[in-house]
Amino acid sequence: MKDVVVIGGGFAGVEAAWQAAQEGARVRLYEMRPVRQTPAHRTDRLAEIVCSNSLKSDEPGTAPYLLKEELRRGGSVVLDVAMRTKVPAGAALAVDRQQFAEEITKRVESHPNIEVVREEASSVDEGAVTVIAAGPLCSDALAEEVARLTAGTGLYFYDAISPIVAAESVDTSIAFRAARYGKGGDDYLNCPFNEEEYARFYEALTGAQSVPLQRFEETRWFEACLPIEELARRGVDTLRYGPMKPVGLRDPRTGREPYAAVQLRQENLMADAYNLVGFQNHLRYGEQARVLRLIPGLERAEFLQYGQIHRNTYINAPRVLAPTLQMRERPEVFFAGQISGVEGYVESVATGWLAGKNAARVARGAAPLEAPPRAATGALARYVSGADAENYQPVNITFALLVPLGEEERRRFKKKRERHTRQVELALEEWDSWLEQVRGGEQEPLAAATL
Ligand SMILES: Cc1cc2nc3c(=O)[nH]c(=O)nc-3n(C[C@H](O)[C@H](O)[C@H](O)COP(=O)(O)OP(=O)(O)OC[C@H]3O[C@@H](n4cnc5c(N)ncnc54)[C@H](O)[C@@H]3O)c2cc1C
Repeated sequence: MKDVVVIGGGFAGVEAAWQAAQEGARVRLYEMRPVRQTPAHRTDRLAEIVCSNSLKSDEPGTAPYLLKEELRRGGSVVLDVAMRTKVPAGAALAVDRQQFAEEITKRVESHPNIEVVREEASSVDEGAVTVIAAGPLCSDALAEEVARLTAGTGLYFYDAISPIVAAESVDTSIAFRAARYGKGGDDYLNCPFNEEEYARFYEALTGAQSVPLQRFEETRWFEACLPIEELARRGVDTLRYGPMKPVGLRDPRTGREPYAAVQLRQENLMADAYNLVGFQNHLRYGEQARVLRLIPGLERAEFLQYGQIHRNTYINAPRVLAPTLQMRERPEVFFAGQISGVEGYVESVATGWLAGKNAARVARGAAPLEAPPRAATGALARYVSGADAENYQPVNITFALLVPLGEEERRRFKKKRERHTRQVELALEEWDSWLEQVRGGEQEPLAAATL
């Protein structure tokens, strides 16, 4: 049996190392702290929590609960320690961050199959079974290696989220449906500006207050996702030649091309939400509401989500990964955690759990596992390996990712809450019988085509 290398001792890495070790593999877990700190971590502990101490809702019938429950049933070390170090937090599972990290560090360091190496890993050895779990603040040297491994598929350094508004709050007597040059039919809602409106908007935008930059957020923005206010500061017309260009549009109220335009793109199949194309920004939420309501047609906009930009290193997973979390091109290399394109502590643990189990299987020459489709872990693996690669964004677990109920069950369970409870029930049934098969060694080998 080959050894397993895990890079990164955060949420995903410790779980991956633990699962691989429990499966009998000898694991070398590389954690660069304290030799080299990330800009957000403060200690030398494994699984250090850098922000909120909440692992989100643990209320039965919710998607975050389902993910946690799968991990609890699957023998997750992180969830076990979380349950033992929990603090009162209503329906959420929150932990004492110090005890949590201390206990995980103790357990991982004393596992007979795990050696913790306090070094920065900067390369992936040819042929070595490796789980890359270096997180959103992955070191520069390793990021270069990841870029090489995933060549040409895209490696992101920031998450840029555009604001989203409720469709019913858009004034459609002003905003009109059209695509630039008539291409794409009525796909966009366009908010047209005259010169005066544009000048007012420009002034408000460039004068608005930003969220103070965190220590780990460089002011050198990634050119491909510049905040809208930063772009505006480059010159009064920059936006009119960028995300607000009006060319190829005709305002039905005037019959002419507007001076500038903001395009709204449909966000979901229900068409009840629209995002402001290219409007990622770093402004305070209150400022966003004030400034963006100066856009003609959005005077009464209800914001379902405000724009954001934050540091986040992640691969374009759908172009790179199989549902087993292996690279399609190099099946001995796995990605887990935030760098694989999931968002959140528990999501990172879940991908670490699956990658760790599979790394051990690959190390001993066994077929890797695909998590069952109804389960939340299966849904995350499906998302990272199969989402739309063009618009790839990291996600938290939500019901939108889970397999919906069939027609008959939807008729039977009328209320959303009842449906969700049923979805969770079915997912856990499937998860339990899959775990039983896996533990009994009966899981069907995967078809070669899935790798
Ligand atoms: C500032 C910040 C705040 C966040 N707040 C929340 C929150 O409140 N709630 C939430 O659910 N999610 C939050 N997230 C998102 C995410 O869930 C967490 O970052 C989570 O810790 C991700 O788990 P991970 O294992 O992928 O990465 P991490 O937990 O960051 O672990 C990665 C580890 O890899 C190590 N490492 C990096 N490069 C190397 C290398 N080359 N060699 C060896 N070791 C290396 C790092 O030191 C680190 O210990 C936040 C992210 C950031 C950056």
